Amino acid sequence: MNKTLEFPDKMLIGGKCVSGTSGHVIPAIDPSTEAVIANIPKADERDVEMAVDAARRALPAWRRLGVDERAAFVNALAAAIEREAETLAAIEATDSGNPIKSARGDVAGAIEKCRYFAGISGEVKGEVLTTNDSRLNYTVREPYGVVGIITPWNHPIWEAVNLAPAILAGNTVVLKPSEETSLSTLELGRLIAAALPPGVVNIVSGYGPEAGAAIVRHPAVRRVAFTGGVDTGREILRMAADKIMGATLELGGKNANIVFPDADLDAAVDGAFAAMNLGFQGQSCASGSRLFLHESVRSHVIDKLVARFEAVRVGPPLDPTTEMGPLASRPHQEKVTRYVSLGRHEGAAPLAGGDRPPGERFSKGYYLRPAIFDRVKPGMAIAQHEIFGPVLSVLTWDDVDDLIDQANALPYGLAAYVWTRDLTVAHRMAREIQAGTVWINQGPVWLWGAPFGGHKQSGMGTSCCLDALLEYTQVKNVNVRLGTLN
Ligand code: NAD
Repeated sequence: MNKTLEFPDKMLIGGKCVSGTSGHVIPAIDPSTEAVIANIPKADERDVEMAVDAARRALPAWRRLGVDERAAFVNALAAAIEREAETLAAIEATDSGNPIKSARGDVAGAIEKCRYFAGISGEVKGEVLTTNDSRLNYTVREPYGVVGIITPWNHPIWEAVNLAPAILAGNTVVLKPSEETSLSTLELGRLIAAALPPGVVNIVSGYGPEAGAAIVRHPAVRRVAFTGGVDTGREILRMAADKIMGATLELGGKNANIVFPDADLDAAVDGAFAAMNLGFQGQSCASGSRLFLHESVRSHVIDKLVARFEAVRVGPPLDPTTEMGPLASRPHQEKVTRYVSLGRHEGAAPLAGGDRPPGERFSKGYYLRPAIFDRVKPGMAIAQHEIFGPVLSVLTWDDVDDLIDQANALPYGLAAYVWTRDLTVAHRMAREIQAGTVWINQGPVWLWGAPFGGHKQSGMGTSCCLDALLEYTQVKNVNVRLGTLN
């Protein structure tokens, strides 16, 4: 499959697929072979200026369209993605290391995202206030104008289609994918060039502190939607503050997965395994990487989980039997490996993985077998930091109040999982756990309409629901005096 793939090497500005102004490039590396598979433009401020200018020029006509007309364009884009789904998935798998099965799932999710938001775009509407006969007071929701969207490397195409709610609300977009995994987003750019009017969506590839910061700082960009790490989110917010600009931030997590003694333990094992998102090498923000097991069920759950982790088929992303691919990049592999060493050093008990799989076929590539650490203490780095890889930290508990304190002790608050048959306990945990989403007796499940977003330092704003669409709008109040003016 790899041989027949053509990798994109152009950005999208003003409806045209273009190289960068400087001529400088960033190598795109296949994390399973460490080979350079493409060279993508390294955009600088000049390219961002052109992209913002194109978005600005496209804005008046785009925002004048009816909601149904914009929805028709987004549905056409969804159809184009669907036609090219296999190519997009293969490009994304090769570039990111995500197994082809997972990449196909993300492409399918991207199509659904376009269609979901197109379907609800009529909900961008205002209200009429109750007044007396001499006054009409109503609100309208207007687009901000040019919106910047900056995405991370773990789910590239799924994140890139956040452009759908942005443009459905009448904005135009400048989008920057991660420099680590830009290829599927640049390929999406080729489809956008054919499906949308020029300039409505512009895509620049480049480094965060250069092209990313230039987007956020640009005076004509009036809103930013960022998905990525907490430190970068903080930096973006600082830049946004200089312009008094709002931002949606979808940031990291170190999510608690809590098993009570009365839980269906087989389901909890399945759920804890699923929650690690090993189909994305554990590189998902919602991964349940802090497993809190009640002392009485610890050994039962751990034995089964170790067996599940050891049976994971690690392999090249395009092999359809692969369950877990290589990590996304060398720096990331080094980071995760450092945490594995740190876990051992701090005295946690390694029970599985954490090393390169054996065999000649794994001599190259950023492979790592999924790791479990038992006997993790709350103060250890592997219990506190978002490793963002296939490393599960198991902590043991026996007092529910202490457990809640520990679960809430970190600055993150993205998601949590709770396993119990006791409804009262389940609802108490749902109330007390500080997280944007609490999954009870299930692994991660996304439903359209169910808000997904972070509490505390895991972010501001939400996705996958009407509020996510409305976040791309600002409210205007219109106050009309009726009757004759004397
Ligand atoms: P990152 O913060 O390093 O980079 C994200 C994006 O920001 C990239 O496109 C990067 O080029 C850009 N960037 C970096 N510095 C910038 C700057 N100074 N100005 C503007 N842009 C800049 O994150 P990452 O390593 O690509 O992604 C992993 C992180 O994303 C994890 O923390 C993960 O939890 C988080 N994430 C969160 C969600 C969610 O929905 N909450 C979803 C996916 C990923």
